[in-house]
Amino acid sequence: MTANPTRLGAIREIEANEAPAAFFNGTGDSPEIFGENVFSLPVMAKRLPKSVYKSVAATIEKGEKLDPAIADVVAAAMKDWAMEKGATHYAHVFYPLTGLTAEKHDSFMEPVGDGTAIWEFQGKILVQGEPDASSFPNGGIRATFEARGYTGWDVQSPAYILENDNGSTLCIPTIFVSMTGEALDYKTPLLRSQNAMSDQAKRVLALFGHKDIDNVVSYCGPEQEYFLVDTSFVNSRPDLLNAGRTLFGAKPPKGQEFDDHYFGAIPERVQNFMFDTERALFKLGVPAKTRHNEVAPGQFEIAPVFEKANLAADHQQLIMSTFKAIAKKHGFEALFHEKPFAGVNGSGKHVNFSFGNGNQGNFLNPGDNPHDNAQFLVFCAAVIRAVHLHGGLLRVAIASAGNDHRLGANEAPPAIISIFLGDQLQDVFEQIAKGGATSSKQKGALSVGVDSLPVLTQDAGDRNRTSPMAFTGNRFEFRAVGSDQTVAAPLIVINTIMAEALDYLATEIEALVAAGTEFNAAVQQILAKVIEQHGAAVFNGNGYSTEWHEEAVARGLKKLDTTVDALPEYQTPEAKALFSKYGVFNEAELEARYEVALEQYLMAVNVEANLTEEIAKTIILPSAVRYQTELAGNIAALKAAGVEGDLSDLNEVSELVAALRAGLKSLQAAVAGQHDHEGIAEAQYVKDVVLPAMLKVREAADGLEGVVADDLWNLPTYQEMLFIR
Ligand code: ADP
Ligand code: MG
Repeated sequence: MTANPTRLGAIREIEANEAPAAFFNGTGDSPEIFGENVFSLPVMAKRLPKSVYKSVAATIEKGEKLDPAIADVVAAAMKDWAMEKGATHYAHVFYPLTGLTAEKHDSFMEPVGDGTAIWEFQGKILVQGEPDASSFPNGGIRATFEARGYTGWDVQSPAYILENDNGSTLCIPTIFVSMTGEALDYKTPLLRSQNAMSDQAKRVLALFGHKDIDNVVSYCGPEQEYFLVDTSFVNSRPDLLNAGRTLFGAKPPKGQEFDDHYFGAIPERVQNFMFDTERALFKLGVPAKTRHNEVAPGQFEIAPVFEKANLAADHQQLIMSTFKAIAKKHGFEALFHEKPFAGVNGSGKHVNFSFGNGNQGNFLNPGDNPHDNAQFLVFCAAVIRAVHLHGGLLRVAIASAGNDHRLGANEAPPAIISIFLGDQLQDVFEQIAKGGATSSKQKGALSVGVDSLPVLTQDAGDRNRTSPMAFTGNRFEFRAVGSDQTVAAPLIVINTIMAEALDYLATEIEALVAAGTEFNAAVQQILAKVIEQHGAAVFNGNGYSTEWHEEAVARGLKKLDTTVDALPEYQTPEAKALFSKYGVFNEAELEARYEVALEQYLMAVNVEANLTEEIAKTIILPSAVRYQTELAGNIAALKAAGVEGDLSDLNEVSELVAALRAGLKSLQAAVAGQHDHEGIAEAQYVKDVVLPAMLKVREAADGLEGVVADDLWNLPTYQEMLFIR
């Protein structure tokens, strides 16, 4: 154990931490706990007049327009329910372009002018809010004279009560738009993209003879990876505290190579934390189902059961904020950064998605007859076309400074967006391309379909961890998403590019049928065409291999290694045309996404560069110089005593100190040069000059960590942060 007072103090604090039992003040672990704090459909059924309830339910379940006349009635019922549960305040919750969650709280209290007050909540306040949120990034959409943004109630995502140790707040999920109606958030385009996809999917369903077709939605089940590190350590790591990742730290003697953490027993203190977070999430109606240890020491995963994408995105944000808050009570910091520790596995967020509706089910589920299978294959073909044509948009939707550390680092899927179909589906599409699939490879069974399409059975066993987009039996899994990102960003793209692909397929089939082609033959023909034109995106091999990276480029797939490479994807004429055609982003809105992503990238790297300088200068260099002095003193003392000293330690430290100083100088120069550039050129400069300069400083510092006397080293080490619990 260390003799350094700072680090020792942190370790003693952790030892004194007695694996606290639940902090959570709930009703215990009965099943009724689920959704206890949600103004859900059953709660509304009890509390709203029948006609009002019917109208709200139709809005939620069928996507019908809300009748504004009922807002007052809903607001009053919501307020009564919330006050019975102890709420005194309400908040419109929205999702600005920072990717975080924002809320503005107001009290129900209204002074009446005679020194007393009443508690009220009017329909117009439920429906629309006006937070003075002019400081959120807007990418140039809002001029200062119209700086206000408006929030609007999203009826499809239920209101809930957020409990705090000292009070409760009624939270209302909302969209966030400018005075002129432009989206300033993630929810607005997600809802728009959902509608666009639904319209086109319904055309395809109609072609397959379905009547009574409900609105189609995308479903999403996000698997969230995260690290837990003790607050006591984090408090002495300005990098973790302010940048969410370590900018220094030598690789520990023992890393993740033993694989002894993955799916291992979850430590006691961590389990206490998990029970607490899950109870809190259950009360909020978040279906947190699966938990396990992940690959790296100190790394874990939570996966809720999939829900409609809009709700899943809101819940995913709630998961992250709940984790952050409850971790603190357990003496932990929950880290969502994509790469908190160099040389150790990073964190992703696997976005599992599918498409479906209430009456026709999940369209990515292979059916049990040839007719259903034809429909299934059409939806799969749509995914193939969408990924092939718009891989660049999928890539840019998940681009961030943090995720750059993960993609392409042979631990996460590569930055090339390809698609993995698995043996069975691959085989079917190959047969279709050759002029008609008549047999299914599954379990050697040869089943000839009446419509010359094979019977498919569900094939979920296939896994290819190296593919960014994999078919897993009844859904696709987009694995390249970063752990810190909102799932709304990729889902917006997925819905929009699916809208385009389904539009194309429906139009083509309609035209063939109108020209006299028999329906099934038309489907066959179109499937063959899709695989011929877009099969280049399909890759079932090892996505980590260098051969694939070369082949992918030869196939014409985009290899966008970093955020800087990916960002221009937002600005292509194709992107502008696509998003405006389907009413998801107008040109100004799309440009705003680009501007904000660029700004966020620059800010993230700037903070890191400043921290690198500060930590190296004020924490690491002083330790190193003290040790250098100590060694020099030793040599001098020996010399005075007439003994020949050994200079090798002193020389080693001196060289590293010199390297650290030189590194710092280059970093300062690199940072100073940044402002000679603008826009994407500035980002390019930051990536090519500032990030490598930071790494140089780190190299010298990590070298010093290996030689400076342990009692002089003030930064908690990787070993301590990853293994002491
Ligand atoms: P694994 O780690 O094996 O990939 P997990 O159980 O951790 O699997 O996570 C799988 C995720 O996929 C869960 O969130 C689950 O609810 C979700 N999922 C399952 N079926 C669907 C579907 N049809 N559409 C979207 N998500 C789904
Ligand atoms: Mg999992």
